Formats: sequence, structure tokens, C-alpha cells
Amino acid sequence: MTNFTKEVMHVGEMASGAALTVPVYRIKGETGGRSVYIQANMHGAEVQGNAVIFQLLELLREIKVNGDITLVPYANPVGCNHKNGEYTLGRFDPITGVNWNRMYHFDADIIKPFVRKSIGQDDKTIEQNFKALMINSIEKKLDHNNYGLTTGQRIAYQLQRLAHQADIVLDLHTGPISSKHLYCPEYAQESASYFDIPHTLLIPNDFAGALDEATFCPWWQLQEAFAELGINFSISAEHLNKESFTVELGSQEQIDLDVALEDAKSILSYLSYKGVIDSNDFQPQSMTRYACYLKDYKAYYSPMGGMVDYLAEFGEPLAPGEPLARILRMDNYGDGEPLHYLSLEEPVIPILHFASASVNQGTELYKVFANYFTL
Ligand SMILES: [Zn+2]
Repeated sequence: MTNFTKEVMHVGEMASGAALTVPVYRIKGETGGRSVYIQANMHGAEVQGNAVIFQLLELLREIKVNGDITLVPYANPVGCNHKNGEYTLGRFDPITGVNWNRMYHFDADIIKPFVRKSIGQDDKTIEQNFKALMINSIEKKLDHNNYGLTTGQRIAYQLQRLAHQADIVLDLHTGPISSKHLYCPEYAQESASYFDIPHTLLIPNDFAGALDEATFCPWWQLQEAFAELGINFSISAEHLNKESFTVELGSQEQIDLDVALEDAKSILSYLSYKGVIDSNDFQPQSMTRYACYLKDYKAYYSPMGGMVDYLAEFGEPLAPGEPLARILRMDNYGDGEPLHYLSLEEPVIPILHFASASVNQGTELYKVFANYFTL
């Protein structure tokens, strides 16, 4: 591919001096269409996104690309290599305990002064200036910070600097043992139907440190700040259109290249809808797409310790009283109750469960959609 480049980005140093690096692949768009940033494997065990990036690069060799596409596998070289025995840990920085996907930056105080300065300007100028402001605030953090950064912040901010340059951001993750699901900002609900993902979580305009939020919240809050003054600045408008998603591709610790090909096609279906690629070969599959609001995405904590036999199927509505799981307690055998069935009192859709069969009382056993509906 003549429009293809590879860069190795330096994101930190280990104690021995060994460099922490991240590969960055870029495909230059031909017509200046919407640009895209896709990264994978911020959480160490969530490896399927790397295979999806491989399949995307393979498919994109044969496709006319309108907008720039930046792809970053192995986004977190510390998390990716964080093994303990046969397992990859890599969800939390082992030094600070902070979740690797809660270290991105957004300072909401930049919004109001920017809006005051921008009144009367056209949308394109506002867009360019705001993008520059966001990139600049990340660069200040990286380069003009006397007191330094944590290892995780240094990695996250460099990734975020790339992400802010794009109109569309996809952060590829997986659950522990999980069905495919999509974190989608409420305003971009329509786009969720272009992914072949049967479960969508609709998320509000709250920043909690994740990459998707760090890239859509600034734009969404900007839109709201203009709206308070009666000014229409719609980030869903054709000429702006800023969207970010966290794409949960299934279960951790697994690579399946055939499934990755399907996942890549699903992403291309969305990118084709957005005009990023020039192809009619990628259309969304027809399927029932369930959704719920983030407030209704419930964690179910184990009411007791024991050994879990997970029973509920992912993705299918589960009637009240139907068992989610049963817990084996061999210590009770002969003089007590060795089997305990667990169920909920409202209809839910199980989305993911804990990765191990042995749990303590209070372990987050399942995550489920409550008050779900179809898109
Ligand atoms: Zn993750």
C-alpha cells in the first residue's frame, strides 16, 4: 500500500532502560473524509482487538479509503506483558492500582471560556480551534509538566493525542467471559445499528477517565454549552460528526482470527456508513439489537462464597426467577445444603460473567442489562 506508514511510538522506559514502545499504523485517506483512530489491548488480557486490527489492515489493502485511519495494536506495552503464571493481568497498573482505562485527561473548565471566545464563528472554525485546544492541553500535560506523570498517564496521554486528531474513535476491549457489546454515547445511538454487535450500552455525558469519554465528552459538553446560549452547534451534524465507542469484542485471553475477520467487517460496515471508506461490500447484519442505559447496566455480586457453575446464556433475555448460576459448597455436604441456585427478580440480559469458577462472597459475578429495549 503506497498510502500506508508505520511508526514506532516511544511511550516510556523500564528500570533497565528498555524502551516501552507502541506500533502506530497509518493509512492516508484520498479525499480528506472523516478520520478514524482505532486502538486495541489497553487492558493486557483483552487481546482480540489486535487480531481485528490485523484483519482491518488486510481488508483495507483492497479498499479505497477517504479519510485517514490510524490503527494502534498493543496500545499498552506494560499491561500486554503483565503475566502472572498462565494468566495475563493487565487491567490495573501494578504500581498504583489504577485501571489503565481511567487515566485519560479532560478538564471541563476549558469549555466555557472557549465558547465565549467562539461566539459568532462558523462551525468549521470552531471545530478546528477546539481540536487544537484539546491537543494542546494534552501536549502541555506531556511536555510542560514539572512534576511529571505516572507511567500510565504517559502512555494514555500519548494515545489520546493521536485520538484527538480523529473524528471517530474506536477503543477495542473485551469483557472477562463475555458477549459482544458496545459502549455508545446516547447521542450516537443510530450508529450502533451499523455494528454487528447485539448489545449496546447507552452512556451519558459524564467523564470518568476512559478513552471513549475523553474523546466524546469534550465535544458533547461543547455542544451543550453552546445550546445554553441558544446557539446550535450539533456534533451529530454531517459536517462535524464526532463519535467514540468502546467496542467489547467478547472474552479476554483469546484470539480468534476468523471471528476477528467478522469483527473487522462489522467495523467496516460502520466506517462505510460514515463515508470513511468507499465500498458497498460491508453492510450490517440484521439481528435483534438490545440496548440499555448505563444506569441499568447492573453488576450482580455473589451473595456467598463457593464454586460457581455459570448457567445463564449470554445475550438472551432471562425471565425472573430463572437461574443465573448455581454455587457448589462441598463444605456443606452431608450436614447442609451443597447446591445454591442464584436468580434475579426482574427480567435481565446477561452480558458477561467473572472469569473464574471460585468466588468470594461479594465477587462481581455477572453484569446484566436491566430495563432493556430493542434498538
Ligand atoms: Zn477493557
